[in-house]
Amino acid sequence: MDLKRECPEINLNPIQRGGILTPEAREALVEWADGYSVCDFCGGRLDKVQKPNIQEFIYKDLPEFLGCDIARTTNGAREAIFAVMHSLRKRGKYILADGNVHYTTKIASELCELELRMIESSGNPEYKINVEDFRTEIETEKPALAVLTYPDGNYGNIPDAKRLSEICRNLEVPLLINGAYSVGRMPVKLTEIGADFIVGSGHKSMAASGPIGVLGMQKEYESEVLRISRLAKGKEIELLGCASRGATLMTLIASFPAVKERVIHWEEEVQKARRFSQEMEKLGIVQLGEKPHNHDLMFFEAPILYEISEKHKKKGFFLYQGLKERGIGGIKAGRTRVFKISTYRLTEKEIDKVISAFSEIIEENRGLL
Ligand SMILES: *Cc1c(COP(=O)(O)O)cnc(C)c1O
Repeated sequence: MDLKRECPEINLNPIQRGGILTPEAREALVEWADGYSVCDFCGGRLDKVQKPNIQEFIYKDLPEFLGCDIARTTNGAREAIFAVMHSLRKRGKYILADGNVHYTTKIASELCELELRMIESSGNPEYKINVEDFRTEIETEKPALAVLTYPDGNYGNIPDAKRLSEICRNLEVPLLINGAYSVGRMPVKLTEIGADFIVGSGHKSMAASGPIGVLGMQKEYESEVLRISRLAKGKEIELLGCASRGATLMTLIASFPAVKERVIHWEEEVQKARRFSQEMEKLGIVQLGEKPHNHDLMFFEAPILYEISEKHKKKGFFLYQGLKERGIGGIKAGRTRVFKISTYRLTEKEIDKVISAFSEIIEENRGLL
């Protein structure tokens, strides 16, 4: 089998941009590549291993970064969401989430045998979530847990998490912030938001080689979510004893200083995304979701490219090929009508290159319009 990866010079796929390893993480990946590499000096608890110093990361660095009392790593954002839902499942009959929820939240509720109710977004074109709508639903019946996708993975919309935290606090419903696309990209602190749980994804937004996730919570939930096994001494049952173990965790730790630094520059990322969106719109490619946009993940609708695809001999593949020839990837082959793009950590020059590529591809096919 050919084990070489085909990787474009500029990868626009939103799921890829925040997971590119730092040189430190790439080094750690090789150093800790063997199976249970971090377990050589384990006394029974992964989170307390001191060589390498996982303990310091889990008990000091990570909670500080997430702005919470207690933190753990998991095998992904979805596993963290599931762990919380599963722990709190007896508090209510259902999970209440926003309508832009990620599919993994749907599956987690399904696996917990909890019904999922969703707050509808405003729909086309902005797909905004009005968090006030959570109140009505909660007042009718209390859910086991409320989940806010912050931002969502489709439109990159940032809903009012602080306001929802107030609502949930007043109505005594625990709130989980799904920060798979925010933790590690933008500054987010659980205490500042005022919610109860925060979840992040190492391979999506923290320059880690996944799968790995992070879970932060306030102290009052520790005994409920991190309850100890009756059968296996000292093991946290919801994490099945140990979660992320090995190279995935070490790449997260290795990238952490750089990740802490990069969130400080978030405003520049927002400005880059906004400029990109404006330039795309000049070409007749419309950005859906919040405008002006507040995140690097953007959803575009491109009727002009779709129209070309209907007449082009390569059908929809002309776009993929045109971009590929210019060293750009991340939009699925064949797609033209709608697609997602992230400009996260691209340089201004790279962004210009992407805009020129779209512009040239449209001009080359002007005759078909
Ligand atoms: C990617 C994503 C997830 C899943 O993250 P994993 O770490 O792969 O489990 C969950 N929620 C949202 C909003 C995402 O974008």
